[in-house]
Amino acid sequence: MREKIRKESTKIKWEPYFLLFGISFFASYLFTFIYAYFKTGDFRVASKTSEDMINSKHPIVLSSMLVIFLTLLIMQKYPKKTLKCTICGNLGKDLLNCGDKKMKRLCRIHLLEEFKRRFLEFGQNMVVLYPGIEGRKQSYYKYLYCTKERLRKYNLDKLAGHLLERGLRSISGKCKQCGASSAIAYFDKGSFEWQGDFPLIENIIQEPEIMCKKCTLDLILPSLRDFKGYFNIPLEIPSKEEGIFLPYAE
Ligand SMILES: [Zn+2]
Ligand SMILES: [Zn+2]
Repeated sequence: MREKIRKESTKIKWEPYFLLFGISFFASYLFTFIYAYFKTGDFRVASKTSEDMINSKHPIVLSSMLVIFLTLLIMQKYPKKTLKCTICGNLGKDLLNCGDKKMKRLCRIHLLEEFKRRFLEFGQNMVVLYPGIEGRKQSYYKYLYCTKERLRKYNLDKLAGHLLERGLRSISGKCKQCGASSAIAYFDKGSFEWQGDFPLIENIIQEPEIMCKKCTLDLILPSLRDFKGYFNIPLEIPSKEEGIFLPYAE
């Protein structure tokens, strides 16, 4: 499947080039006309002059056409080249923070695949708040993974520090859903409210659900999948030590 996607993305499609050529032709015609109009000051003469210039393939026509064509080509190519998913080569507008200041550019499918893999591999207990970013369009929504140290650094320790402690303390026994061994204290959709762009973390009094990592992923992935903005503030993976996943807006 991946091989197929890669093959398709490397096949040259000619239509966009024809379109670019058409646009540059029209733009250079307009440019020539404006040029002739400024020189002669007469609409009719300018129209005739520009037509003659195009018919005789005047250097101004050809060079302006080339410049416009190349500019459009670069404008078209550049973002496509930099916004490619590093796994499948399709358009990838999302970023994943892989730790150690390493970012990966990915399409949404591979972003979530990678997130899932690293979430399952992580060996420590976690507290997870429902992301709640489904349907939201603004790209400044974050889903931060914070260790105690990071909460302190971001001045979030008062807001979320006690929740992290409380959550970690309550993890024991088996997953409420499937009976596998638990690793997560999960605060679901209903356990906190949003005040505009901010989740009211400080108001959470409800006890978390004790779950395994797999069942937690089943609940949070749909929200991340249906985020209508882009993770240009990178989605984070759990790293270093036990911590808390917080939805957060700047
Ligand atoms: Zn991809
Ligand atoms: Zn489970």
